[in-house]
Amino acid sequence: MSQYVKDLVAEVKAKNPNEPEFHQAVQEVAESLDLVLERHPEYRAAKILERIIEPERLIMFRVPWMDDRGEIHVNRGFRIEMNSAIGPYKGGLRFHPSVNLGILKFLAFEQVFKNSLTTLPMGGGKGGSDFDPKGKSDNEVMRFCQSFMNELSRHIGPNTDVPAGDIGVGGREIGFLFGQYKKLRNEFTGVLTGKGLNWGGSLIRPEATGYGAVYFAAEMLATRDESLKDKMCLVSGSGNVAQYTVEKINQLGGKAVTLSDSSGYIYDEEGITPKKLQFVLELKNIRRGRIKEYSDKFKSAVFNPIDPGAAFNPLWNHKAQCAFPSATQNEVNAKDAQNLVKNGIYCVSEGANMPTTLDGVKIFLENGILYGPAKAANAGGVATSGLEMSQNSMRLPWSRDEVDSRLHEIMKNIHKTCVEMAERFGTPGNYVNGANIGGFMKVADAMMDQGLV
Ligand code: NAP
Repeated sequence: MSQYVKDLVAEVKAKNPNEPEFHQAVQEVAESLDLVLERHPEYRAAKILERIIEPERLIMFRVPWMDDRGEIHVNRGFRIEMNSAIGPYKGGLRFHPSVNLGILKFLAFEQVFKNSLTTLPMGGGKGGSDFDPKGKSDNEVMRFCQSFMNELSRHIGPNTDVPAGDIGVGGREIGFLFGQYKKLRNEFTGVLTGKGLNWGGSLIRPEATGYGAVYFAAEMLATRDESLKDKMCLVSGSGNVAQYTVEKINQLGGKAVTLSDSSGYIYDEEGITPKKLQFVLELKNIRRGRIKEYSDKFKSAVFNPIDPGAAFNPLWNHKAQCAFPSATQNEVNAKDAQNLVKNGIYCVSEGANMPTTLDGVKIFLENGILYGPAKAANAGGVATSGLEMSQNSMRLPWSRDEVDSRLHEIMKNIHKTCVEMAERFGTPGNYVNGANIGGFMKVADAMMDQGLV
């Protein structure tokens, strides 16, 4: 790492205390960009990196709401408008008790590069709240979403900032948020993505992140003349991304054997077949139950409860060939990465955002794993959000096949960009460098063109 990058990372840490996830994301990108800044002193002179790590705007607000018993609660709402050099801010909303400024800044920062990689005209943003939808009634979730939108509506719009879903924000929440935006602004526009099909949503948007992560894995495997056929796959999470990751693994002839939630994970040696996956969809999206119920229903599966004191996650300690971390950040640490390598895993495609710690990433790279970092591997979700925006602008819906083939093409192109950029900057096969550099160059050039703003 050059002295310039070391100083930059030290300054980010000093200026943004108590935001370890943001430091981690900046460090990973800055290390990759060392290679670029050496060859392009003009970026350094224009302080592009210093400008990219500073959000264009931070919005933080009070979200008061009333529960079903008439008790008042106050949560905190956020929107990070990180970078608009190549398009309106775009990125999800996360509702989870762990949400804080540092987590959302890391997510918004990653989003800038990810959105650039998709080739679509989208800037980067992220938002959310420390509100926990778990255990809340539909009416409570609706009242919260309405209160959240009362403030957020002042800052977003189809040409300004277009939020979507993320952890804790699925179709139900997007519906309540959209309804309140429409009521407040008296306009029906594509201000959110992930909408319902009857009111401006796109086919394949719910599937897109999971499908995209599997398409990306397939591209990586193809560089070694392999495919997903008969590959044993470990998948974490059991939400939107995990569900459609399993669906696509099944379609491509692989076998997914694990799923998890914050209470533990299931291992099903016979595989999570399409029929069993239907049970998971109903369990998680309608009944909003816990993954343990899977092992109560299917006797081929065992449930392992989470051990909060453990130094590693046993989900990553099974024999397999591919892994798809699809739950949350830093769910794969160095020990987990070692276990994955030891168990024969040689392809890791990240559905979740920054699921692997910096030490874990190092282990993957040292061992020559086909490692698809989140900002490339899970870009299919936001890419399809971009396609939803296009359909909204044209006021014309595309067919399922059309959206899926565009998604597939975008994932192939992202893979190609990663491979080419990694090679061009002297680190062939390093998808981390490839994704960071590929995502950065387009945004950096746009910022250069647009002057000091
Ligand atoms: P989701 O539908 O809310 O599902 C999240 C899953 O991860 C749930 O199974 C949840 O379990 C588990 N989880 C969340 N926080 C956890 C924690 N701290 N410890 C253990 N398990 C945890 O969310 P999602 O949309 O699938 O998102 C999953 C990941 O993909 C996130 O990193 C998100 O940023 C990323 N991502 C999503 C999209 C998208 O289009 N949705 C796009 C790109 C990236 P519990 O239910 O027990 O909490």
